[in-house]
Amino acid sequence: MIKEALFWEKLEGKRGQCHLCAHECRIPESKFGVCGVRQNVQGVLYTMAYAQVIAANIDPIEKKPLYHFLPGSISYSVATIGCNFKCGFCQNWQISQASVRDGDAVSGRQMMPEQIVAEAKKNNCLSISYTYTEPTIFFEYAYDTARLARKAGLYNVFVTNGYMTGQALETIKPYLDAANVDLKSFRDDFYKKLCKARLQPVLDTIAAMNKLGIWLEVTTLVVPGENDSDEELGQIAEFLARIDHNIPWHISQFHPDYEFNNHIVTPIETLKRAREIGKRAGLRYVYLGNVQEGTNTNCHQCHELIVERRYMGLNKPNLKNGRCPSCGAKISGVWS
Ligand code: SF4
Repeated sequence: MIKEALFWEKLEGKRGQCHLCAHECRIPESKFGVCGVRQNVQGVLYTMAYAQVIAANIDPIEKKPLYHFLPGSISYSVATIGCNFKCGFCQNWQISQASVRDGDAVSGRQMMPEQIVAEAKKNNCLSISYTYTEPTIFFEYAYDTARLARKAGLYNVFVTNGYMTGQALETIKPYLDAANVDLKSFRDDFYKKLCKARLQPVLDTIAAMNKLGIWLEVTTLVVPGENDSDEELGQIAEFLARIDHNIPWHISQFHPDYEFNNHIVTPIETLKRAREIGKRAGLRYVYLGNVQEGTNTNCHQCHELIVERRYMGLNKPNLKNGRCPSCGAKISGVWS
């Protein structure tokens, strides 16, 4: 279904400018923005995929990945089609790169926000995750759902590329409890060439989310030959450590897909090297992703095992009031 968009202004000649993400598209009448799901119809900007759910699953919160946010809980996870990035290495490209503009059907099923919240409650989820594609571009749907979810006692989670504007972030902030932001590279030319976007807005979002008190974890998909140099991994880790050394950093293994079918899988040695780089930069919690090791949480001070994770399953956190039971160090996160 279609719904008038938030965050847009009229320009001359029936054009409209969208202020939802950092592309700030200026859209002539009948045309779409970069994301392919927001259209100017007779001078008014609409979201064309409102409540049109392309994916809905009950996932462990660890799958987002969030490791320091309600571990062991399940999250009702939803997406519509579309994305404002064009990453050739996208692992969800079948739904993220679908667009109304290109004539792709807005398939899936219609689920109004009330239904999403009811399904989450019925299935004993503690949170709703807006994920798989890019929640920014289905902001109106996520926002309406998140407000209802909050009233129903549920938490809200964004899994995002971090390209939303400050205005959009301020609007969702009262209802947004946690986020995992992709920091795909520390090079603007990487973002321009491979994602058709820019680096700085992503850095700004990460800093802003931390400042606003949204629980934040960051993921970097390490693509061999593209973003796996010591220098670049070090720049990412140092940037995060400067903001807050308690931000968990997930270093994920890439698998060949979409336009990157000829690339190799990220070697485990690369991920381990990245973990060392992260630790040297001062990050307290660095995890390996898409592999079955390097997923446990240890106390940063005495190395006591705090959360043991087996692939998407775990033991209960070994914590006393959010502190290490052995040495008493505070372990950052949202634990209950
Ligand atoms: S959400 Fe971003 S990409 Fe889509 S129309 Fe708005 S500014 Fe453009």
